[in-house]
Amino acid sequence: MAYTGRCACEAVTLTADGEPVAVRQCWCRRCQTAAAGSPTVNAIFPVDSIAIRGELGWFSYRADSGNELSRGFCPACGTQVIGRSSGNPHFRVIRLGVLDTPHDLAPTAAIWTEEAPAWAAIPPGLDRFPRQPPPPRPAPAG
Ligand SMILES: [Zn+2]
Ligand SMILES: [Zn+2]
Repeated sequence: MAYTGRCACEAVTLTADGEPVAVRQCWCRRCQTAAAGSPTVNAIFPVDSIAIRGELGWFSYRADSGNELSRGFCPACGTQVIGRSSGNPHFRVIRLGVLDTPHDLAPTAAIWTEEAPAWAAIPPGLDRFPRQPPPPRPAPAG
C-alpha cells in the first residue's frame, strides 16, 4: 500500500510506497533527545520508495558504530520526519508520528533497550535488542 504523511505545520509532506522492512522503537539516548524523552518509532523503507515534498533541515552526528546518522526535520515546526545512516544507504526511516492515520503499522522490536530509562514500558511481545540489531537487507532484485 501507499502511506502518506506530514509534519505538524504541513510544510513537509511525504509518500512511501509498499511496506516497510521493519518498524522499531529506538531507545538510544540520541533518540530520547529527539523524541522528548520517549523512544523514536521508526518505519524503515527502501530509499527509492519514499518521496518528500518541502525542505528539510538536517542534523548529523557520528554514532558509536562509526556511522554518520542524520535527522531530517521540518525547519518551520521542528517535527522529526526522516532519518538516514551512512551505514545503511539503501534505507531511510520515517518517524511513525508523521504518517497519516489510520494505518496498520506498529513496532515489532525495541532496540537500544540498555539505554532505556527504568520507567520505560516496552510492550510485551516485541523483540528486544540491548544495542544495535543487524541491518535489514535490501529486498532481492526483481
Ligand atoms: Zn512543519
Ligand atoms: Zn536511536
